Amino acid sequence: MLDRSAICDAYYMFASLYHAGQFSKEYAYFGRLIKLGYKPGLGVQSQDPDRLDESAREVYDRLVANAEGPSRAAREKLANKVARIIRFVEYEVQKTKNWQLRSFVDSLQLHFNGYAEPGYTDPQCGIIATGNWNAITKWEGATHTTLSKTPEIVGRLFDKLGIETEWLDEWCSCSDCGKLVRTSPDSMSWTPSYTLGDGELICCECKEPKDSNDELDDES
Ligand SMILES: [Zn+2]
Repeated sequence: MLDRSAICDAYYMFASLYHAGQFSKEYAYFGRLIKLGYKPGLGVQSQDPDRLDESAREVYDRLVANAEGPSRAAREKLANKVARIIRFVEYEVQKTKNWQLRSFVDSLQLHFNGYAEPGYTDPQCGIIATGNWNAITKWEGATHTTLSKTPEIVGRLFDKLGIETEWLDEWCSCSDCGKLVRTSPDSMSWTPSYTLGDGELICCECKEPKDSNDELDDES
């Protein structure tokens, strides 16, 4: 059973060992812990994870695993699974000669740089896939028939593997950092977080420093 002090101990230890300066996300944990009225004990102040008690250590290990991302072995295993899924679809394309399925495979993209969209968290495996995940259908006279459910199935398989799936026509990648940016609304309150100029799309993370430079240039 996890008590609150074990969780606080774990976050404090993690923040002390993993923060990257006072503006980092990890450093912000200190502020939140203080707000909770937390005071670190000596074991926690020692910055030695081995001095955490068992339940705090479990939470700490999980935080470290998330921060360090999946291991190389895990990434290779995932890449192999993705390759196998794509080969399966390629085989179906050859067999059926369905051009819509062909265009599904051709337009399927894997992204490895994460999101630069407010409110979105990068998947733990580090991969986001954009595609058209709709089943392929056709009108024949008055009847609507499904030709292939493969895009839907691939989307579900990706979800199961921990790969985040997004719609191809709703996302673009930043010309600077390659992170994904939403380009079409998902709610009434949505506003674009990117800027467009000279045919380039710049995400909110890359545009901040540039904008302030531009303003300075304008005034001079
Ligand atoms: Zn960017």
